[in-house]
Amino acid sequence: MEERDHKKIGPELGLFYIDPVVGKGLPMFLPKGAIIKRELENFVVEEETRRGYQHVDTPDLANLALYKKSGHYPHYKDSMYAPINIDDDEYMLRPMTCPHHFQMFLHKPRSYKELPMRIAELAQLYRYEQSGEIMGLQRVRSFCLADAHIICASEEQAAEEAGKALELIEYMSSVLGLKFGEDYRYRLSLGDRDNTEKYYDNPEAWEKGEELLREVMKKRGNEFEEAKDEAAFYGPKIDVQMKNVNGKEDTAFTVQYDFCMPDKFDLKYIGQDGKEHRAFVVHRSSVGAIERVMAFLIEKYAGAFPLWLSPEQIAVIPVSEKHFDYAREVHEKLKLSGIRSVLDDDNDSLGKKIRGAKQDKLPYFIVVGDKEVESGQLPLENRSGEKVEMTIDDIALKLCGEIKSRSL
Ligand SMILES: [Zn+2]
Repeated sequence: MEERDHKKIGPELGLFYIDPVVGKGLPMFLPKGAIIKRELENFVVEEETRRGYQHVDTPDLANLALYKKSGHYPHYKDSMYAPINIDDDEYMLRPMTCPHHFQMFLHKPRSYKELPMRIAELAQLYRYEQSGEIMGLQRVRSFCLADAHIICASEEQAAEEAGKALELIEYMSSVLGLKFGEDYRYRLSLGDRDNTEKYYDNPEAWEKGEELLREVMKKRGNEFEEAKDEAAFYGPKIDVQMKNVNGKEDTAFTVQYDFCMPDKFDLKYIGQDGKEHRAFVVHRSSVGAIERVMAFLIEKYAGAFPLWLSPEQIAVIPVSEKHFDYAREVHEKLKLSGIRSVLDDDNDSLGKKIRGAKQDKLPYFIVVGDKEVESGQLPLENRSGEKVEMTIDDIALKLCGEIKSRSL
């Protein structure tokens, strides 16, 4: 399946490349790749906002003291980059968003009425990956995670939120064309009570947390496997395991139940009884790292992306030079409607231009000649070769509708 390998076709399609001068594991998104990335990010923010998430924006750097407070340092030290000295303090490039979000929760006293509080962010993260592990967009040293932390008032609320997170994951995956069982599966990743060095020491909480996630999946009727010694240091998690084109499986994103950070950060809220209570936390990602989703989508679609993700959505092709003006008019109208149209004004033969549009796997193209200039009816052709005659206004309406609904 080498012809679908994203490392090979990504640069060929003009989506991204790795520049050795910039550095290993640091992908450079070219204009077309940046469009896809932005579309995915917009999708995440739009869908999560619809589901009651509040998107925030926090810095990529933080004082080392924050990671000592969370316990990520030294627990997670091997995945973090060396501290940066700024004035008299040491700062870290963040490998995760949790500490920032918990600190934000502490910004003011919280009431039970605010819970569950779903704090989300498209966060740029930095993790050390060994040279040999680095691979295209799949394993990188800096990436954008669709992350969120849900602060809950009770274990029941946390269980409910974990279920809702799975529902969101399944919805978003379906929009991207991913099928459960085929493209991804669930794994319940458990801790190890004997390894208190690796995992937060609280056997009772582990027992409870693992059962809670197990119940969430059973209740939803999800098929899943269990794996020992695969949890986060602060709690068990549901891993969404995704297969790439070579059949290699990787954890793409997770839903985690956390009984440790609420203690470390002293996360509290004022209950209905007027007293302070300990909060519970669910960490989750809806689509994981945007880079990794892109690697997957590039291999899945091999360039023939769904309309809403296509960097170029339609080509307008004039039959000959005398149709250029009209073709430009059509192209400008489409652009004004927010459609990513390209005008093929090369002096190549018509056949060559049509072949080019097909080769580039454009979702749609229109050929404009004498007949079209006269009648105003345009032949809209899709990738499968289906053709319909429509006016420019109807074409714009049809495409905008398909883009908005993110149809496959
Ligand atoms: Zn987290």
